[in-house]
Amino acid sequence: MDLHEHQARDLFAAHAVPVPRGLLAATPDEAAAAAATLDGTVVVKAQVKTGGRGKAGGVRPARTPDEAREVAAAVLGMDIKGHTVREVLVVEATDIAAEYYASFLLDRTNRTFLAMASVEGGVDVEEVAATRPHALARVPVTAVDLATAHEIVTAANFPPSVADRVADVVVRLWEAFVAEDATLVEVNPLALTASGEVLALDGKVTLDGNAAFRHPGRAALADVAAEDPLEAAARARGLNYVKLDGQVGVIGNGAGLVMSTVDVVALAGGRHGGVRPANFLDLGGGASARVMADALDVVAGDPDVRSVLVNVFGGITACDAVADGIVTALGLLGDTKPLVVRLDGNNGEEGRRILAEAAHPSVTVVATMEEAADRAARLAATGV
Ligand code: GDP
Ligand code: MN
Repeated sequence: MDLHEHQARDLFAAHAVPVPRGLLAATPDEAAAAAATLDGTVVVKAQVKTGGRGKAGGVRPARTPDEAREVAAAVLGMDIKGHTVREVLVVEATDIAAEYYASFLLDRTNRTFLAMASVEGGVDVEEVAATRPHALARVPVTAVDLATAHEIVTAANFPPSVADRVADVVVRLWEAFVAEDATLVEVNPLALTASGEVLALDGKVTLDGNAAFRHPGRAALADVAAEDPLEAAARARGLNYVKLDGQVGVIGNGAGLVMSTVDVVALAGGRHGGVRPANFLDLGGGASARVMADALDVVAGDPDVRSVLVNVFGGITACDAVADGIVTALGLLGDTKPLVVRLDGNNGEEGRRILAEAAHPSVTVVATMEEAADRAARLAATGV
């Protein structure tokens, strides 16, 4: 789960990473009140989960509460790269002497964590990374104490005059990364102020969804309004669903099987007008009628979906139970989009018999995964 800047800021503050004072506002009047409380020049910042807000005009200074009201009125409702601004963070303005960059992330390829740091932070850090990669230090780490933080700071060529202060922030950032089960914490800019403080002026944090159970209350961080409505509906029903951009709905049991099904559908789609998988949906362990009905409802509820492939390998939940689930689900849902079903594994024969007997007009039972993918792709492409 990606956090908003204001949430990242709260999380940093909780781990003693220094941040400027700030208040969240959802209306121009709230922004004016926030500016009055902060007393002095403020920066009004669009809260959208995308980078480049500054360049898009979503980060603007205001000298007075009245000006903050005007600026907030302009920023609220803005569209930044497809994200609507619903809230602004009003922070006290910082007198910036230098903009640095610091981050920790999970490096899946190398099975480690990676620290990245640069003395050339700010809005053009991507360009720095692309054109002058040596200016962005990359240090693999597994644990970060003050000594490691100094190695990172040295690798990035921070001036000796700020090295201690930056290393201190880097250690706290690592503590936040570990304690919050994040896969990314990024500070850009990490600002050196005119008075010599080191402050996290902008933060990006991704939390590991698999660790959510260790953090009660974390669900409250989800921004339901900004979420894909189908993904939100799926989550509300406890389904593991990811929306993709194709036309063939995919439902299966087990993440590995569903991922291979998505691949096989993409391959088959190449033979049928270039149709693609519309989603990933893992039923998980059980495939009761209720779970199956929920899954079909979400997947077929996607207006782009023209056919649905159900690919289940029966294990602990046997195929006859899955077949019963499908038949009952179709009874609950009534009319639905064409369904191609491949059932194999524990009690596969009995499962297929149940579906054949039900003879539902929108269901085609197919023996293998390849055939099923081919049929579902053809149905999506041609309707037959
Ligand atoms: P982003 O564009 O989405 O990365 O948003 P940021 O919060 O990083 O802001 C973009 C840029 O605005 C920063 O790199 C700074 O140059 C500038 N900026 C943000 N806050 C302040 C501030 O308080 N004072 C000054 N002088 N500049 C700021
Ligand atoms: Mn930034």
